[in-house]
Amino acid sequence: PVGLDITWAVDWVRQSAQVISEHRVELLTLDREIGDGDHGENMDRGFQAVLPKLDDLSAGSTPGDVLKLVATTLISTVGGAAGPLYGTAYLKAAAAAGDAVALDGPAIAAILAAGRDGVVARGKAESGDKTMVDAWTPAVEAAEAAAADGMDAAGVLAAAATAAEAGAVATEPLIARKGRASYLGERSVGHRDPGAESSALLLRAAADTAAA
Ligand code: ADP
Ligand code: MG
Ligand code: MG
Repeated sequence: PVGLDITWAVDWVRQSAQVISEHRVELLTLDREIGDGDHGENMDRGFQAVLPKLDDLSAGSTPGDVLKLVATTLISTVGGAAGPLYGTAYLKAAAAAGDAVALDGPAIAAILAAGRDGVVARGKAESGDKTMVDAWTPAVEAAEAAAADGMDAAGVLAAAATAAEAGAVATEPLIARKGRASYLGERSVGHRDPGAESSALLLRAAADTAAA
């Protein structure tokens, strides 16, 4: 089958744990500026908790099974706002992946869209509210465009990651309207949203492991 399989999904989770741990201090510094300073800690705890569970996957496991494992682990370990939001994203992504053995470009775009829709359904944030949605939505749009252009799964993820990174940077001038940062109102201007940054890191990890 053409596309990204279980090996990629497991690699992505390992790379995610690695990258989140490397950026733990950066993420908690961003969250200290406009939140309560725990985003790096929350995300690192969640992804470190997934790692040992990867060994329990059976031989016939699919990428969807991996996404579901990440979802349930993040929901039970991350806490705060990000835990349920990311948990929902991975859960909806898992449902979109279904029992496919391999994910091609359109499947990857559909999975990202489902994840983003999950975040929006759960958190009710709109684009421009200075949340992780501002990384996810441009990522989904870029992924859908790349898939429509006939790019393969790795190319779709690369397009998504680049758009997510730009989306995270573009949160800096925004006024936060959701989550803890919204308590700061205009004082949130000039700071990057930590959840948008972690989302960009996770999508870059997905692209890097797909290209490897
Ligand atoms: P907490 O704010 O509970 O400490 P975290 O610090 O782990 O949780 O996560 C904060 C991130 O969660 C924010 O940077 C933002 O991206 C995201 N977030 C918060 N509320 C929402 C929401 N309603 N919709 C989308 N994302 C949100
Ligand atoms: Mg926080
Ligand atoms: Mg908190």
